[in-house]
Amino acid sequence: MNSKVFLENLKDVPFIFEAQLSLFTTYRVGGIAEVLALPEKEEQIKELKNFSKKNHLDFRVLGLGSNILVSDFGLPGITCCLRNFKGIRIDGQKVTALAGTALDEVVRASIDCGLAGLENLSGIPGSVGGAVFMNAGAFKAETFDKLISFTVLNAKGEIQEFKKEDVKYEYRKVWGIENCVILSATWVLDVGEKEILKARREEILQSRKAKQPLEYPSAGSVFKRPVGAYASKLIDDCGLRGLSVGGAQVSTKHAGFIINYQNATAQDIYNLIKEVQKIVKEKTGFQLEPEQIFWGKFK
Ligand SMILES: Cc1cc2nc3c(=O)[nH]c(=O)nc-3n(C[C@H](O)[C@H](O)[C@H](O)COP(=O)(O)OP(=O)(O)OC[C@H]3O[C@@H](n4cnc5c(N)ncnc54)[C@H](O)[C@@H]3O)c2cc1C
Repeated sequence: MNSKVFLENLKDVPFIFEAQLSLFTTYRVGGIAEVLALPEKEEQIKELKNFSKKNHLDFRVLGLGSNILVSDFGLPGITCCLRNFKGIRIDGQKVTALAGTALDEVVRASIDCGLAGLENLSGIPGSVGGAVFMNAGAFKAETFDKLISFTVLNAKGEIQEFKKEDVKYEYRKVWGIENCVILSATWVLDVGEKEILKARREEILQSRKAKQPLEYPSAGSVFKRPVGAYASKLIDDCGLRGLSVGGAQVSTKHAGFIINYQNATAQDIYNLIKEVQKIVKEKTGFQLEPEQIFWGKFK
């Protein structure tokens, strides 16, 4: 594909040809996307998906890039970033947000309206789409707790609404939406006391700041919580805090995080993940499963 063909076919869709993906991921690593599309409207997302299907191009949906590791070798085809597809509507206790909206903005707006139920998700740096995609959660709360439905552009290119009761979901996993673009999500929240909710939000943000290495680029917790243990404790117990590969390091502040400590490559981070998995398996018997998603080629 070349930019001319792309431009001719999708005149109205904002895009960057040969975009540096390190600027669009929180790890601050990743090579070049052949095309990075930045749609602002549902119609544009539809056009992009149909165009990529018709032309047999790779098509990936990028939210705020806070849970992915993109290869140094970049990505062919279309990377469709939804960060400009955003908006929040609050109607009584019903909160609806477009997929590219920062989840934390939805939390803040809900609290401002005295609505309770999302406050424990404060500070998760992903988009609404990314949060629904993997049922993001923290402090014993999950995206799906108060969710009632979400809309997608399905594999056939049709808009489809999923009711929560029709979807199988669990800890960091939602089934049956792998080939869908999530377009929006709706929650029904409880009526709460604004000042109490604000205080809870502040408490959570402070706790994140105290415990997580927010001063370095990362993508949050690298591994899912294994049954019967905590990934960060296992890593810590194996003495892996501070373990480095190239510019990537197991955070000394929170052993569950890998940070881009000093100009890491994606390959450094990938190799460190593999190394941690290997050592933890050898020493404890636990096979850690990454929570993060790998895009592109790794050696
Ligand atoms: C400092 C830090 C702290 C974090 N803390 C937490 C935490 O407490 N709890 C937690 O759960 N996570 C946490 N994370 C990880 C991350 O923020 C979440 O997983 C978030 O839900 C990812 O959203 P995103 O928009 O960044 O998704 P991306 O990283 O852009 O994408 C992740 C996956 O979601 C898919 N996706 C994204 N948007 C859509 C869409 N609209 N439609 C279909 N698929 C889509 C992508 O294709 C990809 O497969 C943290 C990350 C960081 C950097």
